Amino acid sequence: MTLLRHTTPEIKPRKALTINPAKTCQPIGAMYAALGIRGCLPHSHGSQGCCAYHRSALTRHYKEPVMAGTSSFTEGSSVFGGQANLLQALENIFAIYEPDVVAVHTTCLSETIGDDIPQIVAKARQEGKVPDGKHVIYANTPSYVGSHVTGFANMVKGMVRGFAQKTGKKNGRVNLIPGYVEPADMAEIKHLAEALGVKSILFPDTSGVLNGPLTGQYSMFPEAGVTVDELKASGDAIGTLGLGEWASAEAARYLDSEFKVPCKILDLPIGLKATDRFVDTLRQLAGKSVPESINFERGQLVDVISDWHQYFYHKKVALAGDPDQIISLVEFLVTLDMWPVHIVTGTPGKRFEARIRELTADIPHEVNVKVEGDMFLLHQWIKQTPVDLLICNSYGKYIARDENIPLIRHGFPILDRMGHVYFPTVGYKGALRLCEKILDALLDKQDLTCPEHQVELQM
Ligand code: SF4
Repeated sequence: MTLLRHTTPEIKPRKALTINPAKTCQPIGAMYAALGIRGCLPHSHGSQGCCAYHRSALTRHYKEPVMAGTSSFTEGSSVFGGQANLLQALENIFAIYEPDVVAVHTTCLSETIGDDIPQIVAKARQEGKVPDGKHVIYANTPSYVGSHVTGFANMVKGMVRGFAQKTGKKNGRVNLIPGYVEPADMAEIKHLAEALGVKSILFPDTSGVLNGPLTGQYSMFPEAGVTVDELKASGDAIGTLGLGEWASAEAARYLDSEFKVPCKILDLPIGLKATDRFVDTLRQLAGKSVPESINFERGQLVDVISDWHQYFYHKKVALAGDPDQIISLVEFLVTLDMWPVHIVTGTPGKRFEARIRELTADIPHEVNVKVEGDMFLLHQWIKQTPVDLLICNSYGKYIARDENIPLIRHGFPILDRMGHVYFPTVGYKGALRLCEKILDALLDKQDLTCPEHQVELQM
């Protein structure tokens, strides 16, 4: 694997060039979010190539077929606009595939042309191309700004903008916006809410959609995901918890300003402290007390952290990924007494570096942080200051191989391993799994590389 052997340790200033980006494009996040609505077909308003790429990126990560429509732009639509294509597409989709919802997102091309999606959707309704009882929501997702996380956030905002209603009577439920996490993470967040006795509306909810069982029968729209009625009810909720500033805050704040549903934005509940904050905030919001079952899960995690502390202690870690994920992961690593020293995110955002600096303030080591950074820079930093562990998506495997570092795959995309869609990393159970993965990675390397006389059976 000579792919990255060109990486030099010497870092030269580079402004107009990204090498091996630590992000992907907006519509991928919008498509993923849309799949978390029951009976929803995502629709890509652009060329077939974009749609094929987005679908295949999601399929390769989730190992499930991902369906989506496309406006199939030609040279003509690129010049004159895609209105006719979208009108025709909506008519065909509702007639042939019968979804309850079509979630339209734009692409670089339709954004550059300046297609007015709300106007086109209104026209489709006027012309009877959207059958009664069916819905079209939309999000603008130009990929030359932001990342897949921005696209996810835009589509989640599109959900509440398209569906939320206010009857004037609170329904006692709490909106939970889980952030750009795996289907298993969404299920774990629901599990924690249920254990607390909190009635929640989780959206989007891809659990059971992209990690469902093999039944022998293909269903284009699995019986899973948040329902349209639940999304409508989000406007009557007693509060919203948005998990992750980058992926969830927009929608949470929209519900707050338009429907007077008070919101709190928390970090993703990855690791001990962030999960504690999530459980505590949810408990307070719903007026519940923490049940013994959750205390038990927490206690198991604390036990593992203390039992295995000597293996975590002062191990240096490099991380690349999405800002919401990385902030919580860094906090957890610091809790474990590890040293996150090289940190890159490809997604823009002003508060990221300040949060990381805050979390790593007590580390007696230089901490490199780059927002809108790339994997090439991460690799250069690693060459200058080697690390014991790399946490990254599958693209990190080239760096891991070149530098002989254990790699934990985390984030999006994971193309070469299974498990991420079935086993959570959020909550206390998720943190236990993270501990297991970190330990396995560190100890496997030790077992394979230590001198023969130091090989231990009992560790
Ligand atoms: S970056 Fe733009 S042109 Fe490329 S696949 Fe994404 S939406 Fe399409």
